[in-house]
Amino acid sequence: MIASKPRVRFAPSPTGPLHMGGVRTALYNYLFARNTGGSFIVRIEDTDQNRFVEGAEPYIFEALKWCGLEPDESPVHGGDYGPYRQSERKTIYGPYALDLVANGHAYYAFDTEEEVASCRKAAEAEKKVWQYDATTRINMRNSLTLDGAETQRLIEEGHWTIRFKMPDREMITFTDRIRGEVSVNSSVLDDKVLMKSDGMPTYHLANVIDDHLMKVSHVIRGEEWLPSAPLHVMLYRAFGWEHPEFAHLPLILKPEGNGKLSKRDGDKGGFPVFPIEWIDPTTSQPSPGYRESGYFSEAFVNMLLMLGWNSGTEQELFTREEMIQAFSLDRVVKSGARFNPDKARWFNESYLRSKTSDELAPLLEEAMATRRLTPAGTTSHALISICEMMKERCSFVHEMTAAEYLFKAPATYDEKVVKKRWKEQSAELMAGLADALSAINEFGEAQIEKAFNAYLEANELSVGQVLPQFRLLLTGEGGGPSMFAIAAYLGRETTMERLRNGIQKLG
Ligand code: GLU
Repeated sequence: MIASKPRVRFAPSPTGPLHMGGVRTALYNYLFARNTGGSFIVRIEDTDQNRFVEGAEPYIFEALKWCGLEPDESPVHGGDYGPYRQSERKTIYGPYALDLVANGHAYYAFDTEEEVASCRKAAEAEKKVWQYDATTRINMRNSLTLDGAETQRLIEEGHWTIRFKMPDREMITFTDRIRGEVSVNSSVLDDKVLMKSDGMPTYHLANVIDDHLMKVSHVIRGEEWLPSAPLHVMLYRAFGWEHPEFAHLPLILKPEGNGKLSKRDGDKGGFPVFPIEWIDPTTSQPSPGYRESGYFSEAFVNMLLMLGWNSGTEQELFTREEMIQAFSLDRVVKSGARFNPDKARWFNESYLRSKTSDELAPLLEEAMATRRLTPAGTTSHALISICEMMKERCSFVHEMTAAEYLFKAPATYDEKVVKKRWKEQSAELMAGLADALSAINEFGEAQIEKAFNAYLEANELSVGQVLPQFRLLLTGEGGGPSMFAIAAYLGRETTMERLRNGIQKLG
């Protein structure tokens, strides 16, 4: 028999912006699908209308698009197993829930929320934990304890839930692709609500039915869903369906200490936890995104790849094709993956340096436009020169605009450098250098360097007597890219002008 192609899904709830952990889940699903020749599905789990947040679904698709994680099937992309939005599948779930009731795997419960809460409270007073389960359900108002006529009456009254009848004291065992064998005694599990009288299924019911109907072969999701997996296994069993393979991904942890990385950590540490900017629809408060912070989407995705997976080699930078080839669930780690904001920067820096200046120039131009900057040189050649000079010294494209002297003459000169480097004879030496440079035929980097060295040699000068002073007059600063590159970029006229002005100002 030929095994059918894997089908995996990313199943976010549109309850807010997608956290970077969610993007990583989507990425691993996507890579698994591409690696195995399978399908990557995105299903929107929006059955909980109380938690619905305006704009969250479009945000999810925009974020996935920015990351290049295009689904094969989704509410936006279509597919043969739709609809892919659970709110549009409402009518599918009811008959399945009724089947479970008919087969004795589920039952109607009529207890009000207040009644359930008061049971909990009473137990709390005795320092006990109460849950609706195999030991307590006999004391509650449900179709197992009430007679048929009363049950029917209450169903017709219309305030009911359908709960799963979790078997008592049974070992539930399944294999997780990342964690190995997982065993849980059913006696610790409660009778989860599967459906409410408004006809809406809960997450568990809709999730299991949809994974089955959409022929999902592997459920790859965050560790926070591991406690739900035994119930899901039992639901599959109750329906008489084979369950998909499970793979629960490790949590992404805070930079320091334990615990899941949260938006608060990002605010505190000054880094984004969302892929793209999110504007809260009720407060209009913006939360920063990686995209708006200047990250290349490839760098962001590569960083996520390495948060919980490794190839078993030293390699950290992967092209899309390489990640697809190398990815396997077997190399996903079990323990939490600590997020390191410096490492995130490093990934961006690495991508910045791997790009050609031709590729970077239009991005730089955009960054300059936002800061209303114009390069000192006028041609696109000037943009490329800035990229050449700056890319080794920056982590982000926008940082390349930070060297203001590339755009305008220095208004001041760094006092510390002046104090340390500007000596009595500096003015005279700079005037001599200006003469030497003005005589060059072609004002290019190599020619400037040659003339500079000849000037030093002819006058028996050390580099320290001339180079820092040259930099000071042209840039106002004590450090930066090669001075010959800077002078060539500025051009003969600007270089001469800055030398002249500087000599005059510093005397
Ligand atoms: N809707 C769930 C979520 O928001 C999906 C969990 C799952 O993948 O089963 O994460």
